[in-house]
Amino acid sequence: MKYEKLIANMDELQKRGLVFGSSITVTTQNIGEVTSDSFLSKLSGLGCKAVIFVEFVPVTDESKDLAPGDKEREYLKGEIERLRREHPEMVYISFPGDEKSSGGCVAAGRGFFHINSHGGAEPCPFSPYSDINVRDTSLKEAMNSRLFRELRDGGYLLEDHPGGCTLYERRTDVERIMADSNR
Ligand code: SF4
Repeated sequence: MKYEKLIANMDELQKRGLVFGSSITVTTQNIGEVTSDSFLSKLSGLGCKAVIFVEFVPVTDESKDLAPGDKEREYLKGEIERLRREHPEMVYISFPGDEKSSGGCVAAGRGFFHINSHGGAEPCPFSPYSDINVRDTSLKEAMNSRLFRELRDGGYLLEDHPGGCTLYERRTDVERIMADSNR
């Protein structure tokens, strides 16, 4: 039912001439399918103009196997290069796989940050911690919240990580910074 609703919404967006993109979670299990010509042709046919491949980030130890590793990232990189050549009708972005070329994690205002539905400024959707709310402050101030500054200045974002997510691997440090700022 949710699938039919999604397709109907895409149809409606296309009818109204609105530009939209799709965010696709990539796992070790679906990587072949979501980069296949048939899947992407269908998205394009529905009017989609951009595809953001978001690598699955585990938040439990049991789901770690679903997180793309170096082998899958290499595959995804090759597929994106091919798709850009062969299917230029859409734009392709890989996240956070493209972080390798950015020298590490780009969260906490190093490259971007995330605002949740309550206005809380978080380092990234995959690191849902917040010590500041954009309802009470400017974006510039939010970018320089204590949590963001400590993550940037403490070097937490620059470490290489084997897969998944730097800040998930360092979540106890993030929680410690949060606890310290609440004292
Ligand atoms: S918090 Fe994780 S998913 Fe988000 S940018 Fe950093 S490494 Fe990538």
